[in-house]
Amino acid sequence: MSEIKVLIEGYTSGETNGRSCSTVVLIKDDFDGVEMNIVVDPGTLSSQQALIDELKKEGVKPKDVDIVVITHSHMDHYANIGMFSNAKSLSFDGWYNYDFWGKCNGKISNDLKLIKTPGHSDDSITLLVKTKIDGKPAIVAICGDVFWKENLPKKDKFANNEVELMKSRKKVLKIADYIIPGHGGMYKVNN
Ligand SMILES: [Zn+2]
Repeated sequence: MSEIKVLIEGYTSGETNGRSCSTVVLIKDDFDGVEMNIVVDPGTLSSQQALIDELKKEGVKPKDVDIVVITHSHMDHYANIGMFSNAKSLSFDGWYNYDFWGKCNGKISNDLKLIKTPGHSDDSITLLVKTKIDGKPAIVAICGDVFWKENLPKKDKFANNEVELMKSRKKVLKIADYIIPGHGGMYKVNN
């Protein structure tokens, strides 16, 4: 069973005088008996040390990170990707292991799955994580900017395709018990 930890709660430029950073998430997942450290959206941040410090609290050094997942290709979500020298990267385009490219069919492990959720951008993906929240099995959707914050924004002024975005939002809300949005903390889905 994988474990999820929000390392940095993101913020948007509208609320911070022009500063923007994605929510940064750590997942510890069991890949056939081997523990893997996965960072989702390493963000921008004014100092990378802040992220190193948060990882340290979880017993993880940057070189111990095995996979970095990027939910979409907006800079505030991926500027720090180079911090993790041993990590494979995964995005809409598939895997990169150094310069070696490979396709991703969506399944990453028994507990991790990637689905396409376009609309905010054409290349937006959501990572679905099987985990336990408060002792109960739950599916957490780490959805990038499908939602920036709890069920917000109502209207995404940066969306490439609003119709697709609404479809993606419905899809995520239907599957997930909890959502970690692109620029906020985790919240429960009330279906
Ligand atoms: Zn964003």
